Parts: sequence; structure tokens; C-alpha cells
Amino acid sequence: MNSPVTLASLDYSILQQCMHCGMCLPTCPTYDATKNEQHSPRGRISLMRAIADAQLTPTPAFGEEMSYCLGCLACESACPAGVDYAHLFETARADVERAGALDHPLRKGMRWLTLGFLFTHPRWLRGLGRLLWFYRAIGLQRMIRDLGIPRWLPKNWRDLERMTPVIRSKFSHQLIRPVEIPRTKPKYRVGLLTGCVQDLV
Ligand code: SF4
Ligand code: SF4
Repeated sequence: MNSPVTLASLDYSILQQCMHCGMCLPTCPTYDATKNEQHSPRGRISLMRAIADAQLTPTPAFGEEMSYCLGCLACESACPAGVDYAHLFETARADVERAGALDHPLRKGMRWLTLGFLFTHPRWLRGLGRLLWFYRAIGLQRMIRDLGIPRWLPKNWRDLERMTPVIRSKFSHQLIRPVEIPRTKPKYRVGLLTGCVQDLV
């Protein structure tokens, strides 16, 4: 927890740009949901500045707060002072990681499984997508919901179950050939990134 924080090495003009006017508050979805100053852009910037000033350290509570921010940057567009929230936010999140403030074996495992493995191995990701598609297609999802089984799950799992993505019956690689030959004389060559999860959902 005592590793040097990068927030402290930022140009201080970035950290003190916020004039606490509150113009960003109505645009922030997390503030809108909780009406808690800590969950607002202004509150988060104050926390970041306190870290930079060595009044606070990147604690788990700070890490949770940085994770709770969606990074949508709606606040940045609304800010009349031109606060560089993206720069602050990215630096703060990097500090949270560097300090290991949110370290937990389950979190590490899930990150490895998703970011380190599934998203970098399209075949495995598509295999998982196919399983999810099957789960829905044979009516298992509906049956589990009708029986009220999600009620017995822990809250986080229950929330996740509700968000189970609707998987397409065909994925991009089945719909788009690796190279499409135009019928007329080609004018330009275009590359299309099919992405990872959006390829399935
Ligand atoms: S709008 Fe900009 S200056 Fe005003 S409180 Fe929000 S971040 Fe600070
Ligand atoms: S990035 Fe989005 S969620 Fe985060 S403080 Fe700004 S408006 Fe709120």
C-alpha cells in the first residue's frame, strides 16, 4: 500500500482544475443513482487530490470508488472548467492496481479467466457463447427463472443472472468471410474488427 502514487507526479494544474461548481453532477449516472457526493465526479476528484497530497493512501475504499465510476466521461463533456477527468481517472485506477488495493484471489482469478484467457482466445470464447446460446435455446434459462432458482443465489450472482447476454445464433465468423471480394473493381481495402464479446452478442 505504500508504493509511490502516480497521481502525485501529475502536473498539479490538472489536479486543481476542479472549481467545485457542481455542473457535472446531473450528468453523472452514479451520483444520479445514489445522490452521494462521494459518488460524484467532484467527490472523486477531491479523493484523488487527497491521494496526490499524501493525505490519503489508495485504500480498498478508494479502489472501490474508482471501480464504481463507470468511466463514461459524461462529466468531462459537461465541465465548464475543462477538467481532464479521463487523465485523472486513468491515473487513479493505475494507482489502485499498483497499490494492490483491490487484490483478492477471486478477483485475480476472474481477471485472468476473462481478460487473460477468454478474450484472447476467440475459439474458447465462441465455445462459451455457444453454451450460453444452447442454455437459452433449449429453455433451461426460462425453466430456472420460472422455478425461482435465482432467488437462492447470492445477490451478485442474481444480478449477473439477470444480465445474461442474448447470444446470437450465428457469430461474425459465420456471417463474414475472412476476405470479401468485391464484385466491381476494388477502390479501397477496408479492415473490419469483429471484436471479442460483441462478436457473439
Ligand atoms: S463541472 Fe468540472 S469544475 Fe465543476 S465540479 Fe464538476 S469537475 Fe469540478
Ligand atoms: S466518468 Fe461517468 S460515472 Fe465517472 S464521475 Fe464522470 S460522469 Fe460519473
